[in-house]
Amino acid sequence: MLAPSGMLAPTEVHIRAEPLTCFAPLLGEAGWHVLQERVEQARARMAGRTFWNVNSTSRGGGVAEMIPRLLAYARGAGVDARWMVLEGTPDFFRVTKRLHHALHGSRGDGSPLGADEHALYDEVLRDNAEELLALVRPGDVVLLHDPQTAGLAPACAAVGAHVVWRCHVGCDTPNAEVVRAWEFLAPGLAAAQLAIFSRASYVPPQCADRALVVQPSIDIFAVKNQPLAPDVARAILAHAGLLRVEPGAPEPVFTRGDGLPARVSRGADIVRLGSTPAVDTPLVVQVGRWDPLKDPAGVLRGFALLARAAPGLRAELVLAGPAVTSVADDPEAASTLNDVIALWRQQPHSLRQRVHLACLPMRDLEENAAIVNALQRHATVVVQKSLQEGFGLTVTEAMWKERPVVASAVGGIQDQIVDGVNGLLVHDPSDPAEFASAVRRVLCDGELAARLGARAHQDVLTHFTGSRHLTDFARLLERLDVQPESSGVASMAH
Ligand code: UDP
Repeated sequence: MLAPSGMLAPTEVHIRAEPLTCFAPLLGEAGWHVLQERVEQARARMAGRTFWNVNSTSRGGGVAEMIPRLLAYARGAGVDARWMVLEGTPDFFRVTKRLHHALHGSRGDGSPLGADEHALYDEVLRDNAEELLALVRPGDVVLLHDPQTAGLAPACAAVGAHVVWRCHVGCDTPNAEVVRAWEFLAPGLAAAQLAIFSRASYVPPQCADRALVVQPSIDIFAVKNQPLAPDVARAILAHAGLLRVEPGAPEPVFTRGDGLPARVSRGADIVRLGSTPAVDTPLVVQVGRWDPLKDPAGVLRGFALLARAAPGLRAELVLAGPAVTSVADDPEAASTLNDVIALWRQQPHSLRQRVHLACLPMRDLEENAAIVNALQRHATVVVQKSLQEGFGLTVTEAMWKERPVVASAVGGIQDQIVDGVNGLLVHDPSDPAEFASAVRRVLCDGELAARLGARAHQDVLTHFTGSRHLTDFARLLERLDVQPESSGVASMAH
């Protein structure tokens, strides 16, 4: 369907159904039986309805990572799950990025969040709603993700859909910025039947009566997380320009979501001085969007301290993120990367030789996933030195790959890492020295690194996989009181 010219309209991303049977061996007989029961209930409740998910980007970041995988399994379970990505203007995304920062308790670019910004926000969402409402029917379930979409709630509720808003960001200790963000979002959120948060501490007073905590998850069967032999991981990194080429190396291959074999053929765009890391050089790796709250500059400062304090350590640092123009709703990426490059240029020659700033190709998202997978698997230590973090899927991914993770004790990272048990927490995220000493600990103690990694894998399996998340979705339908059609409620609504 075409929107009237000049109007903004959401785009549907088509999702292939994925059978749930892959979870059976992981869950054991009893667990598999419980999942099937839950899924059967959900399918009955959703018969004749659509489960819409709306967010603001199809690529880059944790939400775009999670939605398609969960919806694929929902479709595999017989639920008509569909994904719509709203269209915004640069000004709209500037305002919503400001909101994103404010929900994290940060000022972002310090721009106002007043009546003018609200008018701009509402206007873009009004356009998008027009197209969306041509599709949403009474009795459907609409899951709106993050601040970009909250303003769609009243229009979706008005057509008789069950509207749920899901917030993937938050701040443990709310401040004036957080209050400002909630005030901005309040009119939209008033129309949501339920609001989902990643942590209980993120729930604002406005949503306390309708809040549900659902932790994010990774899809352990996705290209991003598929098993990769060490030499193939090295071949992929060598091909991408992130590791020295080994003679006789295998092809840089991975398996696509549809089961077909593919090769990594694009390279990363890398700022470095001198040569690529040798195959046996220990790598400290952070993967993430180029966002100041991920603190890539802080990682560089911490690594510089480490290199000074332990001159004998051969470790090198890779800071990797998506190509800067690839993530539609993240207008800050280029300036954040430029700041890191400027800081890198200020470092002594010897340090610059050991720090690699990589923008990973995003044209083919499965190829990007294969490179991220290879980087995480090859890393000696994976770090996530965020100043704020909604949940931190990069942490979950690295834990799944049995890597020792050193990460800040902020937001949802605290729900994943138990300090000293399945990773190391940095208690003061603004202290590069504490970060450097934790990284040094794992680099110098192979036994510790192996113990943390092994336990991390187990903990992800127990708490953060798709089967748990799908069970939470089934619980959500129960909370919404979505009744199977046979009870008459849905048929009346239709
Ligand atoms: N990611 C990616 N390619 C990149 C950089 C990041 O696929 O070049 C993915 C990363 O693997 C993870 C997600 O983006 O799945 C980031 O999620 P996270 O929850 O860590 O942070 P967010 O970006 O949502 O703040």
